[in-house]
Amino acid sequence: MDEKGISKDRVFKLLGDYKKKDMTHRSGKILGSMCTCPHEVGVKAYSMFLESNLGDPGLFQGTKALEDEVISMLGQLLGKRDICGHIITGGTEANIMAMRAARNLRRIKNPQIIVPRSAHFSFKKAADLLCMDLKEAELDENFCMDINSVMELISDNTVAVVGVAGTTELGKIDPIEELSEICHDKNIFLHIDAAFGGFSIPFLNEIGYDFPNFDFSLPGVCSITIDPHKMGLAPIPTGGILFREGNYLDAMSIETPYLTEDRQSTIVGTRTGASTAATWALMKYLGREGYQKVAGRCMELTYLLAQKIEETGFHLITEPQLNIINFQDDELSVWEIADILEDKGWAVSISSYPQAVRIIIMPHIKREHIEAFVQDLKSINRN
Ligand SMILES: *Cc1c(COP(=O)(O)O)cnc(C)c1O
Repeated sequence: MDEKGISKDRVFKLLGDYKKKDMTHRSGKILGSMCTCPHEVGVKAYSMFLESNLGDPGLFQGTKALEDEVISMLGQLLGKRDICGHIITGGTEANIMAMRAARNLRRIKNPQIIVPRSAHFSFKKAADLLCMDLKEAELDENFCMDINSVMELISDNTVAVVGVAGTTELGKIDPIEELSEICHDKNIFLHIDAAFGGFSIPFLNEIGYDFPNFDFSLPGVCSITIDPHKMGLAPIPTGGILFREGNYLDAMSIETPYLTEDRQSTIVGTRTGASTAATWALMKYLGREGYQKVAGRCMELTYLLAQKIEETGFHLITEPQLNIINFQDDELSVWEIADILEDKGWAVSISSYPQAVRIIIMPHIKREHIEAFVQDLKSINRN
């Protein structure tokens, strides 16, 4: 840092130069990310609450009330109005909190968690941080968690089973009704990772889709991760962790000597209230109807692109269940396809299992972006 500061104009000019090197969702070129353009209403609400700290809620009682309302609205969306939870940084923190609650409730030696092979890598972080063993259940032919494999892995050391509603790589929904029955029977903590699917599956069901239950309406479900900063259109960082009952939060609460609340269950201390304000604003502004439109449009564009990809001669790995498409080619490797597309300005991603070019049709993707992308796909020369 220099002794003397520079002018404001100069600061923002320099920042602008850096920003030019970033991609932007607005361009429609980012096809491999679960993030999107934050909705303007969320951005305005976010900027209104920049100084609010939910780590010290006695000072920010308005924001605390907003958080309570958001949690209750999310609970209503997910099968149970009187739930507990927090708005936090994202799916990773939510999953770590859920695993921490499950571990603390049992406090046994050598705790283990069972996740599907398709689970997000945040569970590896959770297992490492919390000194737990992570067991991966196999997937069935549809790339969903295989129930037999789960049954084989369950032992006295199992403190939690995780099912995913909208896997990160393929957008698949695990058989959560079955998981709920098994875990309810055996009294095992069941966590549902709906970081991606939580803000679309309920709305899609309201407009005629037919996804099975995955939420608190199933008695075995103890906690749910749902990320407003993915399909919820909120600015980053905005995640949500929901628990069926307060005792799950109590199981990991720590005394907070100098703050306005006595105990705290979140991992971070100082915690922005801006994310909460943004989520509240968006849920109020868009309503269920607004989110139905967003989710429904993403699905329609997903079907459109999936069909065009097949017509162009590529192979879908699996029929899209949510707004994610994975494809391969007979001749070119997925890395070669991704490189060619990158040269044309597209940022796609590559799934690890199975290996495929991965495209997520987030709300910022428009029909014209898809048409331009298909043109470039067609131009790929596959001798
Ligand atoms: C994105 C995602 C996460 C991680 O969320 P972050 O907000 O990136 O921490 C966890 N689980 C699933 C299923 C996800 O798609």
